[in-house]
Amino acid sequence: MKLSFWTKLFDFISPRLCVICGNRLLPSQSVLCSHCMMHLPLTDHYLSPLDNPLARLFWGLFPIEKASALFFYEPKADTKELIYDLKYRGYPEIGQEMGALMARRYQKTGFFDGIDAIVPVPLTRWRQWKRGYNPSAMIAHGIREVTGLPILKKVLVRTAFHGSQTKKGVWERKENVSDVFRLVHPEQITGKHILLIDDIITTGATITACAEELCKAEGVRISVLALAQTKT
Ligand SMILES: [Zn+2]
Repeated sequence: MKLSFWTKLFDFISPRLCVICGNRLLPSQSVLCSHCMMHLPLTDHYLSPLDNPLARLFWGLFPIEKASALFFYEPKADTKELIYDLKYRGYPEIGQEMGALMARRYQKTGFFDGIDAIVPVPLTRWRQWKRGYNPSAMIAHGIREVTGLPILKKVLVRTAFHGSQTKKGVWERKENVSDVFRLVHPEQITGKHILLIDDIITTGATITACAEELCKAEGVRISVLALAQTKT
């Protein structure tokens, strides 16, 4: 990787730190140092994107094509810091950089072949305003950077929000999401293969609710990609 003079200078003035261990990053590294990168509990979903523990969450719920998550999440593991920084502590760049990293790994495997567009799981307008960004959309930006796939941000909206979903250790609760998404521009996705993006998938209820809405448009196929899947 060729680094510009400015990258080197900014790195000297304001050193970037690994989000997991806090060690200083080299100018060529992003988000994670090589030690933490090496110890990331990567999944092997990409080896069989049609049949793996993530894809199986959705069998019988909607017609799922490919599914993958980059790593497994365990509440007590080091990766908690990465997910918390991205979701709650105001570091949108983690999403973009991890999205790009994931896309570079998966592009070689053909994971993105046949996919027409990316749809990030939306937040409510209020929550996005409060947080300043949507973590899933940031991951989508990183994926677009590598693959060139367009992001469709306006086809799906989150219309309601029932109570807190930030309870420790609980990322999504089934009863909360079944009717909160609305497909608003079906014509934009008709006949397309959509890649739904989420930051972390636990029960799969959020993705299922999104997919059910997207499938109201004709001829839509759905694949799913997330940064992490909680280990069950
Ligand atoms: Zn580290």
